Amino acid sequence: MSARFRVLAALLAVVALLPASAAHAAPPELPDQIAAAWRTDRIYVDPAMRPAFPKSELDRIRAASAAAGFDVFVALIPRTPYTVKQYSELTTLLQARVGKPGLYLVWTVSDEYWSGTEQLFRPGGLKGRQLASVQGDDKADNNIVRDRPAPKIVRTIQQAGTALDGRALPPIPAADLEPERRSRTGRSVTDKEDLSAYTGMGVGGILGFVFVLLATRSKSRRRVSKWRPADGVRTSGSPREVTLSTVRAQADRWIPKATRALRGLEKLRAPTVQQLDRRDDARNRLDAARTLRKAEPDDVLALAGAFVLARQAHQVAVGDELRPPCFFDPTHPSGTELAEWSDDTEVPACRTCAQTVGRGETPRGLRVAAKGGLFGVDRTTVPYWTLDPEDNPMVATGCGALSDDLAERVELVYGGVR
Ligand SMILES: [Zn+2]
Repeated sequence: MSARFRVLAALLAVVALLPASAAHAAPPELPDQIAAAWRTDRIYVDPAMRPAFPKSELDRIRAASAAAGFDVFVALIPRTPYTVKQYSELTTLLQARVGKPGLYLVWTVSDEYWSGTEQLFRPGGLKGRQLASVQGDDKADNNIVRDRPAPKIVRTIQQAGTALDGRALPPIPAADLEPERRSRTGRSVTDKEDLSAYTGMGVGGILGFVFVLLATRSKSRRRVSKWRPADGVRTSGSPREVTLSTVRAQADRWIPKATRALRGLEKLRAPTVQQLDRRDDARNRLDAARTLRKAEPDDVLALAGAFVLARQAHQVAVGDELRPPCFFDPTHPSGTELAEWSDDTEVPACRTCAQTVGRGETPRGLRVAAKGGLFGVDRTTVPYWTLDPEDNPMVATGCGALSDDLAERVELVYGGVR
């Protein structure tokens, strides 16, 4: 079915960067609705879908979550511009409302093709494997059918169990596997043109900002500094270490996730031109993410760049909207709003940061250690955008928020490490 890999992404990306995007931003009540419904039933099916929803599918999902031994929250909803836009943030939004650890799954359907996103929130202090890494090792995972929801959701619940306590993965029933990957024809939409419109138009207006930044920044020529704990000093729990491990975990969650999504594209027997374009784009971003992760394993800013690139690689690979990060802190939800930071400077920002900017304040932003000071170690932190952009692709591009060439710049600076 041609709509299976329909690429709305590029078009939506353009819309998302327009100031008018607030109009189609969101029915904000959807996460509230789902969270409220979960109080009585943790399998939420969109009201419009309920009458026709196959009972057998629902029963399988119920049985798997009941047997999981941990809390499972499932939302089954239609694919809309809102869900496409919020794709990677929905589970986080929902978990914030429910406030419980567990596995959160949001699955959307469009033209009988199911796709979803999931996130495992562990109870405090509990360690285990990353869900994405379990999924990466689950070789048959990419061959599970997508024309109904239960097979993949049941598998995800099983994978989460393995991630939590190492229990063995059961075999996948043969009926859940695609007999043979059929070739899929895509639409003859000129996605490539839309994409170049995004890179050209969307950031054109704010590119000037980079030069303003270059011109007005202090002359102290601070360099990006890597933060490492001093020898023999246990600084566990310090804000910087928390930031470092959090950002590293984000990168390590999204790199395998994007790898899996890309693998799905690579396995298509007769890919369309659009699918090939998406494959190449996702691959470039993912390669750059890996390059950064490997080259700078202890650098908060580089890890943030790796996370942003991997999340974007995933967006491209699954055919979702390509979104810039929040300029102020790339580890925030994507930059879905345009924040008017100064008279003629607009930057993509997450909703929270956009609100802060709207109040006339500058968000705290992603902070990194400033180099200099006594003994060469300055304990103060500074917003990353005040660092010297010259030799740092993350600073130069606002982690990809100001221009969409972070991947290329990363390869120029760190390439060859691979
Ligand atoms: Zn933000």
